[in-house]
Amino acid sequence: RAKQMGKGKACFFDAEMDAAAQDRRMLETELREVIENDGIDLAYQPVLSAKTGQITSAEALARWTHPDRGPIRPDIFISLAEECGLIDRLGEQLLRRACRDAQGWPDHVRVAVNLSPLQFLSGKLIEIVQQALDESGIRADRVQLEVTEGLVIRDVEGTFRQLEQLRTLGIQVLIDDFGVGYSSLSYFQRFPFDKVKIDKSFVDEIGTSRAAKAIVEAVVGLGAALYMGVVAEGIETEEQRHLLVASGCTHLQGYLFSRPVTANTLGKMLMTQGNLEAMASKAA
Ligand code: C2E
Ligand code: MG
Ligand code: MG
Ligand code: MG
Repeated sequence: RAKQMGKGKACFFDAEMDAAAQDRRMLETELREVIENDGIDLAYQPVLSAKTGQITSAEALARWTHPDRGPIRPDIFISLAEECGLIDRLGEQLLRRACRDAQGWPDHVRVAVNLSPLQFLSGKLIEIVQQALDESGIRADRVQLEVTEGLVIRDVEGTFRQLEQLRTLGIQVLIDDFGVGYSSLSYFQRFPFDKVKIDKSFVDEIGTSRAAKAIVEAVVGLGAALYMGVVAEGIETEEQRHLLVASGCTHLQGYLFSRPVTANTLGKMLMTQGNLEAMASKAA
């Protein structure tokens, strides 16, 4: 086919396209395999209370370390899983594992799991969540589900109905990466989210941009009026922390406090935190 096109440039381009397509197909096959073997890992990133500094929850973040290519970014393999019909299976697997892991943590620490909007289209989400709760034995109110603003891509009514059902179970629903998507303040009229996670891009600029600071303050105001906690994600500096706390954010997350860590390391962090708390209350 390339030969018939005559020009060398087009020919080269075509070959490159083929290579890219082939590469993608290979990655897809490997992803299918690793999912079948339950081989996608979870890292956990702590979220702290702005008031007490204690860890109140940990966000589960998917990790795939490819044997030859090394770590592959979750943005990449999650969208690949979405495109090739693997996201339901992967999503279910990760949710169940996250609940099992959380079972070993102190009772007041919640686990946050990211959901793909596509997981609302199978009609099985509620059943899957219920099963993950049952088999892990953790209380529903220890689970937070993070959905993005791109949430409602199809089946608006069905998606909001399922959000209501999740909430009825006692699950917390968070809106993630707030403020950057095609968002919509009208979501807040339709559904009482438990928390809003302000996107990292506003956190990055809070010290330098008047607009970013005003946006954070507006979201905090919205949160206060609607009884929603406000989480700032991606905090990297002490200055950002200070400004976000001063703006009234209720929860903090970012490399400044901790990078995503293994389940094991998180378990140790939580144990030490428990000891510190116990020691502090003894001393008091
Ligand atoms: P997200 O849910 O908004 O997660 C936050 C991302 O920011 C994570 O990237 C986290 O590692 C990173 N991060 C946290 N603090 C900092 C910081 O201080 N500085 C910087 N530079 N980055 C920080 P990660 O793990 O690469 O995940 C990227 C995105 O992939 C997530 O964004 C989420 O949308 C998606 N994702 C990850 N795991 C899952 C999953 O299990 N299911 C679904 N559906 N999506 C997932
Ligand atoms: Mg998230
Ligand atoms: Mg986020
Ligand atoms: Mg984000």
